Amino acid sequence: MAHDFMSILTGSFAKPAAENPTVAVMDAAYAHHGLAARYINCEVGPQALHDAVRGAVAMGFAGFNCSIPNKVAVIEYLDELAPSAQIIGAVNTVVITDGRLTGHNTDGQGFVESLRTVADPAGASMVVFGAGGAARAIAVESALAGASQITIVNRNPGRGENLAALVNEATPARAAFVLWDRPFAIAAGTDIVVNATSIGLYPDTDARLDLDTATLGYASVVADVIHNPPVTRLLRDAAVAGCTTLDGRGMLVNQARVNIRLWTGIDADNAVMRAVLDDLFG
Ligand code: NDP
Repeated sequence: MAHDFMSILTGSFAKPAAENPTVAVMDAAYAHHGLAARYINCEVGPQALHDAVRGAVAMGFAGFNCSIPNKVAVIEYLDELAPSAQIIGAVNTVVITDGRLTGHNTDGQGFVESLRTVADPAGASMVVFGAGGAARAIAVESALAGASQITIVNRNPGRGENLAALVNEATPARAAFVLWDRPFAIAAGTDIVVNATSIGLYPDTDARLDLDTATLGYASVVADVIHNPPVTRLLRDAAVAGCTTLDGRGMLVNQARVNIRLWTGIDADNAVMRAVLDDLFG
């Protein structure tokens, strides 16, 4: 009887790496779908990144994720970029096909897939808090998915202006920057509000966005990128105000789903991956 002991190899290169739950999510999905695939969580910083990328190619990896601090640095080792990764200027997922490396950014795609379970981004008016990596991915991908108006609210004006300019230049959406130096008031007619800052992330779970909470009810949907804890203070306030809420687990799970699709062609079961996060973070 013939056996095939080869695995589809995937993984993550980041530093720090130990607290990243993606490996648990991936393992569960691979096992559920009977895929002979492995996801190796590797602590790799800037010094070792080039060798790690060469190693992945040499060992026949199907691809790998990059997280902090490698999302921009990895680009110089790649052969090409998918359109949204090109616009965002950062890569979190690399696909290796016949030794050629293509960079994707699935953070924003994961967010948009999650958003679509409750609202259509097409034609939407959005407010995005933050202008870091997650905010860039969310704003660009939402714009490419048809959002018509995106207001970027950020504390650091340079980063915020830069993101608004990027959306205006590279996508059909219109974007404006608002400096976040006072409680932000959400305007009537706002469809989707997204916290893409790290405010509320464990252990600082009582931290609150500087926001006029009386205006939260003007938003139809309030989404948070924070997955730990899954229900943030913002989402609790939004639920009280009658908004539909969307937590950061959906973004994480859908991003993993897009990655698995890119690496194996399989559409993984969301519920299996979500159950892992529920077990881990309650
Ligand atoms: P970055 O460091 O690139 O950006 C952080 C952003 O948060 C900046 O815009 C920063 O503003 C803002 N910020 C941080 N603290 C404050 C504060 N006290 N007041 C106002 N603004 C603040 O981080 P990322 O974009 O990579 O990540 C942001 C969050 O998204 C993290 O918590 C991360 O865990 C989460 N994330 C979740 C994902 C998921 O799948 N659920 C995927 C990716 C990220 P400024 O520019 O003014 O400094």
